[in-house]
Amino acid sequence: MDFNLSTEQEMVRDLCRNFSKNEVVPIAEELDKTGQFPYEVWKKMGSLGICGIPFPEEYGGGGLDWLSMIIAIEEISRGDASIGAALLVSVTLPMNLLYTFGIEEQKQKWLIPLATGEKIGAFGLTEAQAGSDTSAIQTRAVLEENEWVINGTKQFITNAGLKHNSLVIIAAVTGEREKGRKKISNFIIPTGYGGYNFGQRYKKMGRKALEVRELIFDDCRVPKENILGNPEKGIAQFLMTLQTSRIGFAAHSVGLAQSIFDVSQAYAKEREQFGRPISKFQAIQFKLADMLMEIELSRLMVYKAAWQKDQGKNYFDTSTFAKIFASETAKRCADRGVQIHGGYGLMDEYPISRYWREVKFEEILEGTSEIQRLNIARRVLKL
Ligand SMILES: Cc1cc2nc3c(=O)[nH]c(=O)nc-3n(C[C@H](O)[C@H](O)[C@H](O)COP(=O)(O)OP(=O)(O)OC[C@H]3O[C@@H](n4cnc5c(N)ncnc54)[C@H](O)[C@@H]3O)c2cc1C
Repeated sequence: MDFNLSTEQEMVRDLCRNFSKNEVVPIAEELDKTGQFPYEVWKKMGSLGICGIPFPEEYGGGGLDWLSMIIAIEEISRGDASIGAALLVSVTLPMNLLYTFGIEEQKQKWLIPLATGEKIGAFGLTEAQAGSDTSAIQTRAVLEENEWVINGTKQFITNAGLKHNSLVIIAAVTGEREKGRKKISNFIIPTGYGGYNFGQRYKKMGRKALEVRELIFDDCRVPKENILGNPEKGIAQFLMTLQTSRIGFAAHSVGLAQSIFDVSQAYAKEREQFGRPISKFQAIQFKLADMLMEIELSRLMVYKAAWQKDQGKNYFDTSTFAKIFASETAKRCADRGVQIHGGYGLMDEYPISRYWREVKFEEILEGTSEIQRLNIARRVLKL
């Protein structure tokens, strides 16, 4: 086994690490205060080729592998949770769907501006009654002559409504199958189409700069050709894509956990009690040691899942293990980090209090930890 990164993967890591340190970390606190997504930073990421790493150059991408992309997500998330989440959602969901299932015209028209970072994409599956139970979606699409007419409401949709958001790919019911099961297809809905409106922008406990909105489709008419790939395969399409986004979310958790370790270690060395730095106390050392160990274990599983995807191997289990373990690691790290900071850990002037608010998202988004465990159990127990 070779655990070394390739030269290209190391270059991507160093590029993103430096970018994160110099361009993202300095504005993270301000983003938390203003809640404004930094378009300029996104544009710079695009010009550095960060937004489309795993897609071929002919589609505006970098022609590298998914492991490189996952490393980029980890490093950018280390700088700021909102920017990292916007990146991972755009790449692993709409771009991945377009690249894997879109026809050539769709890739040319929609993928290229996303891969170059000129635009950002969104993915809309969740609805008020369909969170963990994705099969409960109610949004319907009906074909009328040459147009799909879409009605329904999506909730909690990331990136939709940003000024550079070009599209959302949504899942909608298009018919019935045997035994009353729904037929679901995916549709490309361009921003600005009549009948497609943004609802409220949610107020969140963290990731304030991440745009998350309700989307309302009221007789929204899109051309017939805006259906994504094979209309019969909508469920398989989004399930496959969610496997990739699980690795992205897990990498995001690793990035956050690493930044929590970094600030906690620095604080422990600087803060003195009983006449010496608190890092000299074993209780603090053990917390830092556990953080480092769990972060490294998470990272290994994340990289393995990305490597398996690149090798064309099955990565269902590893992506699920990575998502659960990395998200729960990030939360444990944040708890330990605040504890290490003592009272200052509860004050806004230290970033650890922001991290503590950010990490809880990890265990809920893109399938809660409970649903991920159910998925593993169902597969192993053949339920
Ligand atoms: C900030 C944010 C951004 C998001 N971005 C997007 C996006 O871009 N696109 C998108 O489509 N969605 C998005 N989501 C939705 C997200 O994926 C869902 O919130 C998540 O899947 C959980 O669904 P829910 O919130 O409806 O919780 P529910 O499904 O109502 O779950 C509530 C609780 O019940 C538990 N539960 C439910 N069913 C079971 C079961 N069978 N067994 C055991 N426990 C169970 C859950 O684990 C959870 O603890 C976003 C959500 C947030 C908060």
